Amino acid sequence: MTYPIVRIRADFPILARQVNNRLLTYLDSATSAQKPNAVINCEIDYYRHGYAAVHRGIHTLSNEVTTRMENVRKQVARFINAASADEIVFVKGSTEGINLVANSWGQHNMGPGDNIVITEMEHHANLVPWQVLTEGKQLSLRYIPVLPDGTLDISRLPTLIDERTRLCAVTQISNVLGTSNPLPEIIAQVRAASEAVVLVDGAQGIMHQKVDVQALDCDFYVFSGHKIYGPSGIGILYAKKALLDAMPPWEVGGSMIRTVSLTEGITFNDAPWRFEAGSPNTAGMVGLGAAIAYVEQVGLDNIQCYEHDLMHYMIEALQQVPNLTLYGPDNRTGVIAFNLGQHHAYDVGSFLDQYGIAIRTGHHCAMPLMAYFQVASMCRASIAMYTDQYDIDRLLAGLLRVQRLLG
Ligand code: PLP
Repeated sequence: MTYPIVRIRADFPILARQVNNRLLTYLDSATSAQKPNAVINCEIDYYRHGYAAVHRGIHTLSNEVTTRMENVRKQVARFINAASADEIVFVKGSTEGINLVANSWGQHNMGPGDNIVITEMEHHANLVPWQVLTEGKQLSLRYIPVLPDGTLDISRLPTLIDERTRLCAVTQISNVLGTSNPLPEIIAQVRAASEAVVLVDGAQGIMHQKVDVQALDCDFYVFSGHKIYGPSGIGILYAKKALLDAMPPWEVGGSMIRTVSLTEGITFNDAPWRFEAGSPNTAGMVGLGAAIAYVEQVGLDNIQCYEHDLMHYMIEALQQVPNLTLYGPDNRTGVIAFNLGQHHAYDVGSFLDQYGIAIRTGHHCAMPLMAYFQVASMCRASIAMYTDQYDIDRLLAGLLRVQRLLG
């Protein structure tokens, strides 16, 4: 099948925008992806005709929204092949999902002498919660090292994982290097050497690769709606049902209780609702449902195949720029990080912005990885289902121009 790039681009109205008097070339989708009309219209329609609070009343609108919310839960379960919708918790995003696991499962299942294994390439969202969890306790944090080519040194796993490992948390795809980590191999080694649970950070994986949480056999999987063309402020924590049923709530308040008494205490709701305190982001939920439907209609396999070829095109383009250092393995997914000579990434990014080209610059919420590569910052260009070769051609032309200007 020919990938319908022209039709797809037409579905994303922001791509027709001018920035600094040039047509926008948006190469910052790994930070946050743009939204198709299907999502934008769904949000508008929801606020115009369907909005109400959920689980709160018996009136028609409230019941309609409750049904929509629970249908999106089922839709997400199908999308990642969870065994049941009861394994799907609505959260704000990947960050909140990981914090929920650290504060609920982590606080109640780890004791002195236990350890957590993560990698040196984690986004701060999958690093800081574990650092905070281990602080002041006799818990240790161990790191799977990164190799100079941007892959993980998984030969070190046997020395890192032991019977005191309680949790292993690893990103599906590095948000800096584009490394697609060998999750089946890592999970198999964790299972063989410990009874640890495995958390996969799917923030960068969900929009590029088909996910099957049962085949993967991970215990937790998190992703953010805004990275898969959905609204911001909504995300998903998947957790195996037995784990979720045994986990205490983290945030407490309305909606997550069954009974509250001033004299006889509280009883909590069942999972997953026990983890959804307060009034939920229902607009985010229906928008996420529309985003997933849109992606499924194009087909993640088609998107993956298209992006794979486009990434090769981008690597070849960037290799033409003098003094450009690329970071990461040859086989990158979604993102490509680079620096131009000794120039600070902010300077390069600011010039490109003047040409209407949006890239990400900075430490990418991965300061330890910047330290590993001995740089303060990097530029990062990222692709999505709507990126085309013309975007890459403009990036190349822009970088050549910056190179001539800055030397
Ligand atoms: N993990 C990775 C690998 C990411 O790239 C990001 C965001 O860039 C996050 C976690 C955090 O996602 P969010 O800010 O949507 O919670």
